[in-house]
Amino acid sequence: VATIDPRLGRELTAIVGEAHCLLEPELTAPYCTDWTGRFRGKTTGVVRPADTAEVAAVLTACGRVGQPVVPQGGNTGLVGGGVPRDGELVLSLRRLHSLAEPDGEAGVLQAGAGTTLAAAQAAAAAAGFELGIDLAARDSATLGGMVATNAGGIHVLRHGPMRARLAGVEAVSADGQIVRRMDGLVKDNVGYDLTGLLVGSEGTLAVVTEVLLRLVPTPERRITALVGLAGATEHEGQPGVAAAVTVTAALRRHLPGLEAAELILPAGMELVCRHAGLPRPPAPEAAAWLVIEVADSRDPTEEMAAALEHPLVLDAAVADSEGPRSRLWAYRERHTEAISSLGVPHKLDVAFPLGRLAAFAAALEVELARAAPPESHLICFGHVGDGNLHVNLVGPAPEDTRLDDLVLRLTLAHGGSISAEHGIGQAKRAWLHQARSAADVAWMQRVKGAFDPDGLLNPGVLFDRST
Ligand SMILES: Cc1cc2nc3c(=O)[nH]c(=O)nc-3n(C[C@H](O)[C@H](O)[C@H](O)COP(=O)(O)OP(=O)(O)OC[C@H]3O[C@@H](n4cnc5c(N)ncnc54)[C@H](O)[C@@H]3O)c2cc1C
Repeated sequence: VATIDPRLGRELTAIVGEAHCLLEPELTAPYCTDWTGRFRGKTTGVVRPADTAEVAAVLTACGRVGQPVVPQGGNTGLVGGGVPRDGELVLSLRRLHSLAEPDGEAGVLQAGAGTTLAAAQAAAAAAGFELGIDLAARDSATLGGMVATNAGGIHVLRHGPMRARLAGVEAVSADGQIVRRMDGLVKDNVGYDLTGLLVGSEGTLAVVTEVLLRLVPTPERRITALVGLAGATEHEGQPGVAAAVTVTAALRRHLPGLEAAELILPAGMELVCRHAGLPRPPAPEAAAWLVIEVADSRDPTEEMAAALEHPLVLDAAVADSEGPRSRLWAYRERHTEAISSLGVPHKLDVAFPLGRLAAFAAALEVELARAAPPESHLICFGHVGDGNLHVNLVGPAPEDTRLDDLVLRLTLAHGGSISAEHGIGQAKRAWLHQARSAADVAWMQRVKGAFDPDGLLNPGVLFDRST
């Protein structure tokens, strides 16, 4: 337990009201452990401001006494970036959930940073639009958290990550200054792109309070398929992954409306079917499965059927209405909870040029067979269209990072990125210097120093505390 400076406690209570300044450990506990259960820390308290002015007042008060702050949205981040470590104050943004009517003419939606993805999706849908971004944590993940992590998800293949979806932002700096860039101009080259800079900054530069999102029209038709694949044994690398890469490349060529291509491997399929009680998938003995989704203004069924006439495709289940489509998505989307049912997972989120993904997956299996304790589990799945593999290890103790290091070393050796979409957080902080050049890290530290000279915003995330 960390105790708060009594004067600061009184000041914060005056700003947000007693009901939203939580200082008792039993009230603050849920904010101190991350979604995986791997990262836990202690806090001096949790404040829950209602609007931008309150956020600015809280940060100004904290700045005056040098109280470090961790911004937190839905707390679904997977790298320990949104939970306190050693007495930081948690600034929960969940009450900033204002949601404007979508602007159909400009094709944008304005929302508070604490709005959940699902709420924003529902508002857009009511006006005939979509956000072009989706992920399984949609009911809890907030738009501010998604900006801060540059979230990706299942539709990056077609619409890009959060960076591509963001048309404007409002944010508050560590010293309480508010910057608004919410005009949504397509062309606006006045100075540095501060909006872009905040995307993926993991709460270390400023606190996002409002966002303007680009919308896409809701497509007339959408089809989902769960496709079982034979192993591509003539290719280099892990046969299931190689098959998924080959088939995805073919689907991309032939299906302009391809929105998602998600990879499932046998260990994950067996686990998710058991955990979630799902029926056997098509081609139960497949080397891999793809969940693919195609959306278009006209019926893409025939086009999809033709594209699936591929020698590596064994069988497919296809759905074109809401209920059956979500039943197919369950095989992929329930992976995260199924993995957590085995124990506290180590989650490594890595990305490669497509041509190297299968070779990495093969090397990973060999190296882990040698190094991992026999009772541990390796479950890989991911956004194969983006070259993004989620490597999940269950077995090693939460603080034992030896296998994490092995995976990340192998990733760099195969020319990959150690963080595809989850960020660095505290989980991969020690790896930043391996993944970026000394000059690159020095530039990032200069940016950090310019935004937050006293190091009060999310210390210990991205960089070591001392830097
Ligand atoms: C089941 C499941 C599936 C997932 N699938 C995906 C996926 O497909 N793709 C993907 O990219 N991620 C995925 N994630 C990870 C997670 O949902 C995303 O990282 C999401 O963007 C986090 O949003 P959040 O509101 O929960 O942020 P939090 O977890 O609360 O915070 C994450 C980071 O953002 C910072 N932050 C939060 N809010 C703000 C703010 N308003 N201003 C400044 N900084 C802020 C925090 O300090 C922290 O560093 C998944 C997670 C789960 C549990």
